[in-house]
Amino acid sequence: MREVSHFIGGKQVAGTSGRFGDIYNPNTGEVQARVALATTDEVAAAVENAKAALPGWANTNPQRRARVMYEFKRLLEANMDELAELLSSEHGKVIADSKGDVQRGIDVVEFACGIPHLQKGEYTEGAGPGIDVYSMRQPLGVVAGITPFNFPAMIPCWMFAVAIACGNTFILKPSEKDPSVPLRLVELFREAGAPEGVLNMVNGDKESVDAILTHPDIKAVSFVGSSDIAQYVYSTGTAHGKRVQAMGGAKNHGIILPDCNMEQAVKDIVGAAYGSAGERCMALPVAVTVGQKTGDEFVERMLDAARGLKVGVSTDTEAHYGPVVSAAHKAKVEDYIQMGVDEGADLKLDGRGHTLQGHENGYFVGPSLFDHVKPGMRSYEEEIFGPVLQVVRAESLEEAARLPSNHQYGNGVAIFTQNGRAAREFAAQVNVGMVGINVPIPVPVSYHTFGGWKRSAFGDTNQHGPEGVRFWTKIKTVTSRWPEGDIGDQAFIIPTMQ
Ligand code: NAD
Repeated sequence: MREVSHFIGGKQVAGTSGRFGDIYNPNTGEVQARVALATTDEVAAAVENAKAALPGWANTNPQRRARVMYEFKRLLEANMDELAELLSSEHGKVIADSKGDVQRGIDVVEFACGIPHLQKGEYTEGAGPGIDVYSMRQPLGVVAGITPFNFPAMIPCWMFAVAIACGNTFILKPSEKDPSVPLRLVELFREAGAPEGVLNMVNGDKESVDAILTHPDIKAVSFVGSSDIAQYVYSTGTAHGKRVQAMGGAKNHGIILPDCNMEQAVKDIVGAAYGSAGERCMALPVAVTVGQKTGDEFVERMLDAARGLKVGVSTDTEAHYGPVVSAAHKAKVEDYIQMGVDEGADLKLDGRGHTLQGHENGYFVGPSLFDHVKPGMRSYEEEIFGPVLQVVRAESLEEAARLPSNHQYGNGVAIFTQNGRAAREFAAQVNVGMVGINVPIPVPVSYHTFGGWKRSAFGDTNQHGPEGVRFWTKIKTVTSRWPEGDIGDQAFIIPTMQ
């Protein structure tokens, strides 16, 4: 059986722990490969390689580092089809979504090509007599990234492309559910000209995560995954003296105002709620309609749209979405649907028990739609991460806007309206990190920054964009004095504003 190994010191290295995780094909439910799960010692070996590579890489001039990024971008583009097929076969998302996943990664690599410009620092000439002050952004050292299953191309690139362009060396610990694309990324990065040890990958579960969080030579950790683990990673990593950013789960709301373009809103939300089987942290699983008429019309149209979705295998080019990632996840999504029924929400469309002829053991869940969902219901308060849309009815914009603001998660939110003033006010006031105005999935472009609020992110620096550069660098400020002539016993004067 195919085995996914680690990548340490510029080459694939077979695991030695004797422990393996199964990699499934979600279309069929079959085990298609296995992945080695690292021990603490294997993580330590990766750190040693990254440490050895650090001085050379940190002292490589920024433009040369950027050239590796340019070549990596070219290789990703050249290998797009292969990467997308591999990604779909382990994750289950349809090929078009897998290509989007890779493309979003490429976007961040493209951003990383320009990082020399953001690492320049600042300069003040003549802050005092003969005194100049300048700052520089230096790499942190050996750093690490721990990533989830749902964007196995994009999220590793969020982290390692930015960190490495800044001069750090890196340990990637991808999800054990779909590690083959991350491994290909790491191989392609080496092929692009990265010296050995600059980017290493260890596969694993909690043992490898704990080894990363407690290793004294790892200076920073970026994490993306579910909120409880994110909080654990944040508290453990910071307790061990590391800089940590840890992105967590989400429950994004879309507010539907009576004056919106309803046809467009339904079209947008059907993609945002059900696309990629709802397994996106920027999916839109809650629609809040304002006013009875808006609610009735939205539910009627959405039912039609959801019924029209084709659920298929990930290679089916006509399918809107494929299976969810695992049998356990399918069971979890179906349990939440039952919970919604038990809590008294009105199940208009039930996706449970969805089977596909010839793929009876695949992890398919049909589109589900709940109406009259209420705050306080557990199925509303928690993240389902499946193809389930919950409609909450509100009487006013104020009531609707309070829902995402009061929710435990604060990743993304969207408002659908033609009233610019209402949208502007909403965007300014809502207690959520990323806002869409007539945009259902407001994922910021790579040169802006990605990150939620509340239990959607622990730590205070976001992914990519200038914030990403700040996370992966530390600032040093130099005050220098080169006075004219002999300074004799003149004392050093701290420059002041006078
Ligand atoms: P997960 O939390 O199960 O796993 C994420 C990572 O943590 C994996 O690498 C995994 O190996 C590791 N891990 C799992 N259990 C652990 C434990 N007990 N101790 C230490 N490490 C552990 O998440 P997932 O199921 O892979 O991904 C889906 C989740 O990620 C969803 O909650 C989704 O909302 C979230 N997500 C958030 C964002 C964001 O930017 N906020 C983006 C994508 C996904």
